[in-house]
Amino acid sequence: MRTLTILGSTGSIGTQTLDVVRSNPARYRVGYLTTNRRGQLLAEQIREFSPTGVVAFDPVVAQQLRAEFGSQLEVLEGEEGACTVASRPEVDIVVSALVGFAGVGPTIAAIQQGKRIALANKETLVAAGELITRLLKQHNAELIPVDSEHSAIYQCLVGESSAEIEQLILTASGGPFRELPADQFQHITPAQALRHPNWSMGPKITIDSATLMNKGLEVMEARWLFDVPPENIDVVVHPQSIIHSMVQFVDGSVKAQLGLPDMRLPIQYALGWPQRIPNEYQRMDLPLIGSLAFAQPDFQRFPCLGLAFDALRRGGTAPAILNAANEIAVAQFLDGQLRFTDIPRCIERALERAEIVDSPSLTDILTADARTRADVRRENASTK
Ligand code: NDP
Ligand code: MG
Repeated sequence: MRTLTILGSTGSIGTQTLDVVRSNPARYRVGYLTTNRRGQLLAEQIREFSPTGVVAFDPVVAQQLRAEFGSQLEVLEGEEGACTVASRPEVDIVVSALVGFAGVGPTIAAIQQGKRIALANKETLVAAGELITRLLKQHNAELIPVDSEHSAIYQCLVGESSAEIEQLILTASGGPFRELPADQFQHITPAQALRHPNWSMGPKITIDSATLMNKGLEVMEARWLFDVPPENIDVVVHPQSIIHSMVQFVDGSVKAQLGLPDMRLPIQYALGWPQRIPNEYQRMDLPLIGSLAFAQPDFQRFPCLGLAFDALRRGGTAPAILNAANEIAVAQFLDGQLRFTDIPRCIERALERAEIVDSPSLTDILTADARTRADVRRENASTK
């Protein structure tokens, strides 16, 4: 029986993690859950899973939860609360499923306690990859990817030597605008961008998938998870999302991991590794799928992908700056304040303007993040 802390239990990954727990009551128990603002949903999760404690980032929501559940369980608040429940000694696995830079602090807290971390929050590795890699070694913590592409690569590498990797090949669905002509991009609405063809996910990653920034963030995630330089990481568009990613080895042989697009599979792989947990989920029917297609990504129509490769090559705080600018731009696009085509423009300007710090400390990363957010907000307010 393993005890979990699920950071972001009210989100898309969080609720699917709870679904895995629901199907495996003899393997997993819920220690701690967290939400930002969705107190109602967290209350339902408390009633079903009886955690030891919960965290609400929003103090008003924390207060409401305390009033209802304070006599039965611990109710903490804010980032400090999340760091506390990621560090508790009885917790075996921390599922890191907050969205955005907010995931960095609690993930580091879990690493410092030498936990197994099932990592969905890719922004942690994007903004602080070098630092996180160092901390993992120092504290002997374990980072198992939940992101489907990285789970695929992780699975392909079982029994292989990392010295024999020639290329990592990340697959991308191409998102809802894979075939949209360039001159239509400026008219894309949030509602259109929120309609992903293959996956149902939280709003931020859904927009990132539509701009292909998600793939850019995943290239950075792969660079740190597997210690492979950017020139050995490729992206190929594969609209069916059946091959989740591939590894090409020094002899030219390629291994791929396939499956239906269902995040519960990589989630349960990360929880159970090195064991596979049996399940009754739908199986793949290859004759029904018929054929698998592949294409080059279009860096012209999707400039975010190129920006991400550039920031990764530049290193230092450049990826943290790119990530912060992207988070603000995506939020403002969802709010109707920016056009879809303004997202890469904002990021490019943020990178041009910023002073990049090499081999950054955590303080350097926090400063770069906060400064970039303020700069992008100020600039967008003044150009309105
Ligand atoms: P969601 O938006 O669905 O959920 C995010 C969770 O984090 C919610 O519990 C939310 O609380 C909480 N949260 C949001 N903002 C904050 C904040 N500022 N401080 C504290 N808590 C916060 O996101 P997803 O589940 O889609 O994504 C989570 C992570 O997993 C992301 O990094 C994403 O890139 C990654 N990922 C997701 C995939 C997916 O299929 N969804 C696939 C691969 C990776 P509340 O409910 O109150 O908003
Ligand atoms: Mg992914």
